[in-house]
Amino acid sequence: MPHDRLVISHNARVTEVEALLLGDPAIRSILVEIDGETFCIDRAWFFSTLAGPLGHGRSLYARHPITRMPRPQTRALPAEMTLLDAAHAILERPADIRYNDVLVCFPNGRHGTIPVANLFAEVAHTHAYVGLHDPLTALPNRRLFLERLHDAHAGIGRGREQQRQLAVLFVDLDDFKPINDVLGHDAGDSALKTVAMRLSTPADPRMTVARLGGDEFGVLVEEPAGEPEVTALARRIIAALSSPIELDDATVTISASVGIAMAEREATAEELLRMADMAMYAAKRNGKNSYAVYSDSMHARASRRLELRSQIEAAVGRGEFTLHYQPVVELEGLSLTGAEALLRWERPGEGLVGPDQFIPLAEQSGLIVPLGTWVLQEACAQAVRWQREHRHGEQLSFAVNVSPRQLEDPGFVDTVARALSASTLPPGSLMLEITENVLIKDFESVLTRLAELKQLGVRLALDDFGAGFSSLGYLSRMPIDVLKLDRRFMLELGGTNQRGLLNGIIRMAEALDLVVVAEGVESELQLAELRAARCPRAQGYLFARPMSAVGFTEQLLSTYRPTGRSPLPSGSTAPLAGSAPLLGARAA
Ligand code: C2E
Ligand code: MG
Ligand code: MG
Repeated sequence: MPHDRLVISHNARVTEVEALLLGDPAIRSILVEIDGETFCIDRAWFFSTLAGPLGHGRSLYARHPITRMPRPQTRALPAEMTLLDAAHAILERPADIRYNDVLVCFPNGRHGTIPVANLFAEVAHTHAYVGLHDPLTALPNRRLFLERLHDAHAGIGRGREQQRQLAVLFVDLDDFKPINDVLGHDAGDSALKTVAMRLSTPADPRMTVARLGGDEFGVLVEEPAGEPEVTALARRIIAALSSPIELDDATVTISASVGIAMAEREATAEELLRMADMAMYAAKRNGKNSYAVYSDSMHARASRRLELRSQIEAAVGRGEFTLHYQPVVELEGLSLTGAEALLRWERPGEGLVGPDQFIPLAEQSGLIVPLGTWVLQEACAQAVRWQREHRHGEQLSFAVNVSPRQLEDPGFVDTVARALSASTLPPGSLMLEITENVLIKDFESVLTRLAELKQLGVRLALDDFGAGFSSLGYLSRMPIDVLKLDRRFMLELGGTNQRGLLNGIIRMAEALDLVVVAEGVESELQLAELRAARCPRAQGYLFARPMSAVGFTEQLLSTYRPTGRSPLPSGSTAPLAGSAPLLGARAA
């Protein structure tokens, strides 16, 4: 290979370089290291500088080291440098230098030059690309998607003979979170890449596939033949995503819910995306892994939700919320150990509304923070009344549910402290129930918040265990006292697998010094299984439904004895037969 570039030492003399170049016409340029930087001296540049503007160059430089010549205008950089770093290196040049070219040095000794102007154009282009694309999947991002949607939308209905159409598909992966939580983010990332690839094949010039965020993707179809073509596309997407994805250490199966909005002249581009989003939620409600086409009734439902939100706000002010209490019993003697406060909305004209109808909305809107504060104050005040009025009341423990949003609130620990001191409830009598969902956010900061709560002296319970991702790993790191087994766990009791799992969880909880409370116990069979596994406590319709404070006082506390002395014939579960609730409670 001809040596078209030579590397020389920085103390080589200008005359030596001249001789080298004159001796070998094949040498196009020379590399020299000056002050730790490699410069490239182009043959033509060398001779023109040596000649100098008035032909005096030779007399100026000839006897000096090459480094005394003006710095060459080409900068050499290693090939592995990113474009952005290369651009920075160029920009950090000495004030008196303007580079014309960058010499890229490859590891195998080869070189190539690119004009600096091209380098900067490329960097600008990459920057624009990065701002409009998702770095993980390289798909267009939400911004670019909306831009294209705007452009396509502007063309709808333009031209008489050519009635243009467009459709937006909102694709949301079902239950994607556990993949991240259980298999880790790298696995989640590679699953998302596979999803992106499947969504964009086969390529169709009329389609823009974008990652809108997290596990949400958007597909814009310009000029579809009609709704049947779009629903066929939705079916194809659902089918394509449902085949198993091979990851490094596992194979996962993913499903998706797809919402479709067909263009309407009255709807703006943003509204179209929102309509597709609403339709996607409808698909999720229909059992996921399916698609739904937007209809006006979906809009009506969404606006009812909005209306409900403002009604919740007003109801907080009007004092329409109330607490019901469900007893928690000790399984050994079937005696009362405490109660869980459960929120109810006494809605004029509608009767009692359960928390499932309004807590999610209150969480989304942040209203849960003032509402939750009220729950705490009310439950603490009621607990103190019961503790005062009943002989063994101080042995009862009162549980209050706390939503993730409340726990995130920086003032929450203070709120709890104030509720305790205002009511004079001993901190040890209050138990805060949190769900696993709080852990998904930021485990370390949740741990800090929980430790602060423990400092107050309150007790902590992990609610709905077994319903979420239920990683056992974090249990030992959390300062909790009680583990509440989710109701869904009870439903499956009876099989040998479930029995083994129940036993395992209870033994593990014992080892961690956690008290287990089984939730949603409805049948004697479940009770028997729990007893066989030596589960210490339970809660459920079998014992009593949630009831008003008055009902609780009348029906439970009047017959209440402290732990160990059951209000029922000991050792017998006979009174439990049929649906007659234990402890004489009636459904609320
Ligand atoms: P949770 O904390 O797991 O409460 C237990 C739920 O199971 C209650 O539903 C209770 O009525 C129900 N339940 C109890 N025993 C049985 C049974 O044997 N069978 C069946 N099918 N259900 C049973 P509820 O009162 O509708 O509350 C639902 C959820 O709403 C609660 O689940 C809790 O997560 C949330 N919640 C309730 N009150 C509050 C509150 O004040 N603040 C917050 N943030 N969330 C609350
Ligand atoms: Mg609870
Ligand atoms: Mg629960």
